[in-house]
This record gives sequence, C-alpha cells and structure tokens, in this order.
Amino acid sequence: MASSRSIPSIDLLLKREAFVQLIDQYGRSLVVSAVRQAASQWRATVSQDADQATPAPDPAAWLELHTAGILAGDTIPSLAPVINATGVIIHTNLGRAPLARAAVEHAAHVGSGYSNLEYDLHAGDRGSRHVHAERLLCALTGAEAAVITSNNAAATLLVLATLAAGREVIVSRGELVEIGGGFRVPDVMAQSGAVLREVGTTNRTRVTDYAAAISDRTALILRVHPSNFRIEGFTERPALSDLADLGRRFSVPVFEDLGSGWLGLPHPTPWPDALANEPTVGQSVKAGVDLVAFSGDKLLGGPQAGIIVGRATLMDKVRTHPLMRAVRAGKMTYAALEATLGLWQREPARAQIPVVEMLLMPIAHIERRAQALADAITMKAPDLRCVIVDGMSTIGGGSAPQSQIPTKLLALTSAARSATDIESALRTGTPPVITRIQNDAVLLDLRTVREDDDVLLERLVSAFGVSER
Ligand SMILES: *Cc1c(COP(=O)(O)O)cnc(C)c1O
Repeated sequence: MASSRSIPSIDLLLKREAFVQLIDQYGRSLVVSAVRQAASQWRATVSQDADQATPAPDPAAWLELHTAGILAGDTIPSLAPVINATGVIIHTNLGRAPLARAAVEHAAHVGSGYSNLEYDLHAGDRGSRHVHAERLLCALTGAEAAVITSNNAAATLLVLATLAAGREVIVSRGELVEIGGGFRVPDVMAQSGAVLREVGTTNRTRVTDYAAAISDRTALILRVHPSNFRIEGFTERPALSDLADLGRRFSVPVFEDLGSGWLGLPHPTPWPDALANEPTVGQSVKAGVDLVAFSGDKLLGGPQAGIIVGRATLMDKVRTHPLMRAVRAGKMTYAALEATLGLWQREPARAQIPVVEMLLMPIAHIERRAQALADAITMKAPDLRCVIVDGMSTIGGGSAPQSQIPTKLLALTSAARSATDIESALRTGTPPVITRIQNDAVLLDLRTVREDDDVLLERLVSAFGVSER
C-alpha cells in the first residue's frame, strides 16, 4: 500500500491548478521534465527519511513548490547586470565598457525590426554593411577607410591573414606581448599563417633593426601597443613616423595593433593625467601608419567590436578576404557603435559616454556621493563603520599601463562581520556588487557605479549591517 511518502502519478499531478498555471507559463514539456526532477529529489530526500521521525510533507504541495523553483531557476538568463564598485573603468571580467543610453536605444531600435544593414536605399539594391560607421570613423580619426569586426583580436588576425599569410611580419621583441585572456601576439601571428620575424631586444629596438630585417619575404611591419605592461629604464622604440617612412621607402605596409582605441579628442575639461601618454588613433593615422586596429569597447566606450582604420586600397583587400565573413560584426554592434561614435563627434555629447563620464568625474563629486552613501548607511546600520579614504581608480582594459586616477573610496568595516564576509555577501546579492578588500576593509569606488545606482547600493549595504539585537 502506498505510504504517505509515495507520490501521485505525473498525469494526476498535472491536473492540479498550480501545475496547469505552470504549463500556461512554461509549456508542457518543460513542466513535465521539471516535475520529474522534483520527484526524484523527493525520492532522494523525503522518502529516504527512514525512521520517518519527521512528519512527511504533503507530496503534491512539496512537488508544486519544487517544480516551480526548478522552472524559475532553469529559465532565468545567467548573464545579468552587476554593480561595479571596483573603480576599474574598463573591467575585462565585468563586460568592459558600459554602453551609452543612445547606443542602447539605437541598438534596440535597429535590432527590433528590419534595417538597411546590407541594402542601399538610394539604389534600391543590395548594399554593404561596411559602409555603416565608416564615415564617422574616418571623420574622427582622419583615416580613409574603416572595417568593423567582432573584436580587436579578430581585426588583428584578419589584417595579418590578408596582408601577410605565408610571408614575414617584422615585430620588435619588446612587443611580443600577451594582452590577457589568451591574446598572444606570436600565437595570433601563427594562426594567420604569417611568419614572425623578431627584431631588436626586449628593451631597445631601433629603426635600423627593422630596416636590416626587410627582404623580399617581408609583407608587413607590425607595431603593438604593449597595453598592460611597461618596460622601464633603458628603453627605445622608434617613432611611429620613422617606422612609417621606412615602410614607405621599401613599399612595406605598417600595421599597428593599438588596443585601447583612445580618440583623445579635445574636451573642455582636461582628460586625466593618466591618459597624457596614451597614444591616439588619430596620431597613428597622421604618423602614416597604413592600418590601425583597436577595440570598440575599451576607451572608445562602445560595443564589443574590432575596428580597423587606414588606407582605402589595403582596406579593400581586408574586406574581400574570406576570413572577413567569419569575423564580421552583427547589426546590433553596428548600431551601438554608430551611436557611440555620434556622441564622440559632438563635443558637448561626449560626456554621455559612460567611459568618458567616469574618466572625467571630478574627485569632489565622487567624495560627495561617497559621503552621502556613508551617512545613509551609518544611520540605518549602526554595526557598519564607514570612512572616506583616498585611493586610486584604474583605467584598465590594457590602456596606459598601470594608469590610475585619484579617487575617494568608501571603506566599510563591521565589528560583527569580517571583510571577506561582507565582500561575498555583496557579490552574491541581487544585483551583485563587486568590491575589493584592502587592510580588512571593503572598498567601494563610486567612480564606476552609475549614479542612479547609489540608492540601491545604499540599500544593499545597509541590509546586512542592521544590528541583529
Ligand atoms: C585588448 C587588446 C587586444 C584584444 O582586443 P579584444 O577587443 O579583446 O579582442 C589586442 N591587442 C591589444 C594591444 C589590446 O590592448
């Protein structure tokens, strides 16, 4: 005879009102599979309670609850927004550049319907996606032509494959870098089919080193922005213009992987000192570099994309290479990129790009926000101690190496809970808040927190600092 711990048949269960509602919401097949999972959980836990000391719950009610839980868990996206309180502006693990509102809206607008992605409205005929964003990129960088790819790694691979497969690429030994996340210059080179020709030494490479390596096997001179690392002291690398002159003299194109894609356009409030030596795309074009590749979602502040700008004759070859099809960008990327470039174009609109806003945020403003947050937290959660301390925000994303901007940090401590405890509670909350720990304090840098999120952040922090007494 069935004990109180055995469960009704699935057919019977599914007739119950709660399950009918779940089927309306999720469809029959998902519900059936979830109810089977819940039933096996029941068998593994409740019905194994051998001594039956605890009273058995009603199996149908138990299964309703657990099935609903399984369905909810299985159908929420795993990708979700987080609050970045680390102060790292281009945070590689947290999705790099946040998009401007105009970029999000344009992507949503274009993406939710049909578009002229590959349709020439004037000719009424097939067009090319390559025209989008090109005019703006040329205007902003001084280049003749532009191409968009899925990311900068793809852009670099594409250029190398197009211009140098089976032939030699000359690179300084000081620039054979790993950018992080598996982007190693020698490996990308190998994948493109190009042959690496190293010149110079780790710390010093001269134009004459490049010149001596040029032969009839040479396809390209490659320059790489060392991004996330810096060689200090006795160092030398040729000026870009000297390298470009050399290339022109021997009819060897010069290609630069610039990484961060800093435009460095003039702004009424000066850019942070940390960017003073960050090379700009415009400088490379002006110096005579033939092709320049960079990311769309680093200092440009746009969507994940690779951008190649440079000479039209070379760009035609890049566009028609078979790899182009494999690394091209989608319509949402073009839309978000064009909108971001549109903001760059209009000086008064530039600060609407979140990366620009964070770079330019005055320290006094950050301090005011931190103080307001501290006051609200201390009022609600007397167990928490808040102090405002000096600190550094980091630009990140392989921009100027170790480049930092002075900031004010909210340092959080509690007599009742350890810093690691607070850090992990914040990190696993909804939404997650990412912080860092230093000297047993949890540090929050509001430079990278959207101002709209200050109130939410205050609630999240206060919530677990409220005295339990
Ligand atoms: C960031 C970076 C890359 C990789 O760019 P992705 O957009 O991440 O593919 C390549 N080269 C340099 C110099 C970089 O800084």
